[in-house]
Amino acid sequence: MEFELTPEQQQVRDLVREFATQEIAPGAGERDEHEELPLDIVKKLGELGICGVPIPEEHGGLGADAVTWALVIEELGRADASVAVTVSVASGLAAGMIARYGSTEQRQRWLPPIAAGEMLAGFGLTEPGSGSDAAALRTKARLDAGSWVIDGSKSFITNSGTPITGFVVVACRTGDDAGANGVSTIVVPADAPGFSVGAPYRKLGWRSSDTHELSFEGCRVPEDHLLGERGRGLAQCLAALDDGRISIAALSVGLAQGCLDASVRYAKDREAFGRPIGNYEAIAFKLADMRAAIEASRLLTYRAAWLKDRGQPYTTEAAIAKLRASETAVDVAREAIQVHGGYGYTEEFPVARAYRDAKVLEIGEGTSEILRLVIARDLGLQPQV
Ligand SMILES: Cc1cc2nc3c(=O)[nH]c(=O)nc-3n(C[C@H](O)[C@H](O)[C@H](O)COP(=O)(O)OP(=O)(O)OC[C@H]3O[C@@H](n4cnc5c(N)ncnc54)[C@H](O)[C@@H]3O)c2cc1C
Repeated sequence: MEFELTPEQQQVRDLVREFATQEIAPGAGERDEHEELPLDIVKKLGELGICGVPIPEEHGGLGADAVTWALVIEELGRADASVAVTVSVASGLAAGMIARYGSTEQRQRWLPPIAAGEMLAGFGLTEPGSGSDAAALRTKARLDAGSWVIDGSKSFITNSGTPITGFVVVACRTGDDAGANGVSTIVVPADAPGFSVGAPYRKLGWRSSDTHELSFEGCRVPEDHLLGERGRGLAQCLAALDDGRISIAALSVGLAQGCLDASVRYAKDREAFGRPIGNYEAIAFKLADMRAAIEASRLLTYRAAWLKDRGQPYTTEAAIAKLRASETAVDVAREAIQVHGGYGYTEEFPVARAYRDAKVLEIGEGTSEILRLVIARDLGLQPQV
């Protein structure tokens, strides 16, 4: 067993940490207030090679391993969850689908601009009537004169309406099979006729990330925009979500670490009854518990990524990591506010934003309840769904 990061992994982590501390964290509160997606930061991350970390080298990326990618998302999450999820969805989920299942043409067309930070992309699975029960999706695509014609809608799609959105991978029903085997994924370019992007959601957190409902009305895209094999779309999406869960776990670890850093600073500085509050056991032990929970979540996250890198099964481990880390992030953010007292309840300190940003980590890319189902099934149980 080896707990040491490689020199390359440390190098990437340090690069992202420095950039995140100097260039991402300072404006995070203001961007959150104005719901502003920082495209300039995405571009700079592209120039630094960060957006290309998981993208194959032949398509402009670094082709790095899953542990390195987890480190990147952790460091971004420590500074700004909205930036972290934006990059995670574009370079991880959406580009990951293209890298894994795309044709040579699709890979050549879509991956280099994402690696360069010049394009964002979305992953469209959730619908107004189906989230956890993804197999119940109803968006339909039929072939007509060499094109797919798509009708339906999607909800909560991250990165779908930015000025640099290139495409959304859309899961559609393409077969007679009403179940999982009737689903395929299609790459829908942002300018496809019949594709429209709804108003942005007003969200509790992740406020400077881009999330929209999408509608497809006779939306036409060329037949060769099918991604991978027809009828395998749901399996593709579920596999991508295993990777996404490692990313959300890493984001959770980073967010929680940011809360702990801020809380330790505050506890050493703030005095009550004549001494720093960190010298009271109630506060010191709270901080110790926060650290222990974060370390456990971090190890689970790195291990899930490490299993992926070794080509071993990691579905259950990714679910365990995401469950533990996201619930830790919510707990740690709540306790961080407690440590900050009344000031923690204001936007003067970053912990209030972290508290709002943390909640969705227990919802997106598999709710805590669904992750418990995945884990229970691995124990040989058949909980009622
Ligand atoms: C900010 C944000 C960004 C998102 N980005 C994307 C994106 O880019 N792409 C995308 O496709 N989706 C995205 N989502 C959607 C997200 O993945 C879904 O919200 C999530 O999967 C849950 O689906 P739902 O909202 O339909 O809830 P539901 O599935 O309706 O669940 C409601 C509640 O019931 C529980 N529940 C459901 N079924 C069971 C069961 N069998 N047993 C026990 N409990 C159950 C759930 O755990 C939850 O607590 C995003 C969501 C948000 C909020």
